[in-house]
Amino acid sequence: MFDALAERLEDAWKKLRGQDKISQSNIQEALKEVRRALLSADVNLQVVKDFVADVETKAQGAEVLSGVRPDQQFIKIVYDELVQVMGETNIPLAQVDTAPTIVLMAGLQGTGKTTATAKLALHLQKQNRTCLLVATDVYRPAAIDQLVTLGQQINVPVFELGADADPVEIARQGVARAKETGVDTVIIDTAGRLQIDQDMMGELARIKQTVQPHETLLVVDSMTGQEAANLTRTFHDQIGITGAILTKLDGDTRGGAALSVRRVSGQPIKFVGVGEKVEALQPFYPDRMASRILG
Ligand code: GDP
Repeated sequence: MFDALAERLEDAWKKLRGQDKISQSNIQEALKEVRRALLSADVNLQVVKDFVADVETKAQGAEVLSGVRPDQQFIKIVYDELVQVMGETNIPLAQVDTAPTIVLMAGLQGTGKTTATAKLALHLQKQNRTCLLVATDVYRPAAIDQLVTLGQQINVPVFELGADADPVEIARQGVARAKETGVDTVIIDTAGRLQIDQDMMGELARIKQTVQPHETLLVVDSMTGQEAANLTRTFHDQIGITGAILTKLDGDTRGGAALSVRRVSGQPIKFVGVGEKVEALQPFYPDRMASRILG
C-alpha cells in the first residue's frame, strides 16, 4: 500500500533512522513528500497546507516504536489523519421517521447530478426504500427527458411539469406528490450551470427554503481537482450542504477532491460515482479513499 509515497519517503526516512523520536527537524523532508503526494492527488493547496501542519503536530514527539521502521510509522500517522479528516466511517443517507425524506441535489452542469439522482434512487430501492424523482432543470429540456428515461430504466416514477413551469413550484408539487403517494424518499434534481452564477444559487436557495430538505447533497466531479474546494465553499456558504457525492472516480483521478470537500465544508461525502451506468454508485469509505489519495 502507498507504494508511490513510500518510495519517495525512502530518502526522507533515512534521516529518521537511528533516532528515537520524530522531531521537527528530522521530519521536514518527509512532510515535503506528503505535501507533494497530496498535491499530485489534486488536493487543494490550502487544504494541503493545513493538513500537513496537522500531521506535523501529530507526528512530533511520537516515540519511534522499536521494530517499526520510522517511515512506516510516519506513513501510518499520515494515513490515520487522512481517514480521520474524511470522517472515519461511512455516513448513510438520512432517513426520517415521518416520510418522505427529502433530498435536494445540487452542483454544476456536467458533474453527473442527474445520473447521481437516478443512481441514488436505485441504491435506495435495493434497501426497499421507495422513491420519487423530481425534475426541476427547466433550462436544459433534455435534462427532464434524461431523468424520465433513467426513471423508466430503474422503474422509479418521475414528477415533472415540463420546461415552462417554475422550478420552485415543481419542487413544491413534487414533494406534495411524494406525501400523497406515501413514498419513502423524494429526490429533487436541480439545474446546474457550467459555472456558479447568482441566478442558479438564488433559485436553489428558494427551492431549499420551500421544500426544507433533510439532505442537500453537492455533486462534485472528482476530476475538478483544485477547484473542488472553492466550489464546495461557495455552495456551502450560500446554500448549506449536508453531504456530497463524488462522481467519476472510475477515471484515473486519485480523488484528492474528497479531502478538499470534507475539509472545506465539514460535511461527509456519502457516495461515490464509479461509472456511467445507473448501478455505478457506492457508499464512500474514508479508509479506501485515504489509500487511493496516498497512491
Ligand atoms: P449533470 O449535468 O450534472 O446532470 O450531469 P449528467 O448526469 O448528465 O452527467 C454528465 C456526464 O457524466 C454523462 O455523460 C454521464 O454519463 C457522465 N457521468 C456521470 N457520473 C459518472 C461517473 O461516476 N463516471 C463516469 N465515467 N461518468 C459519469
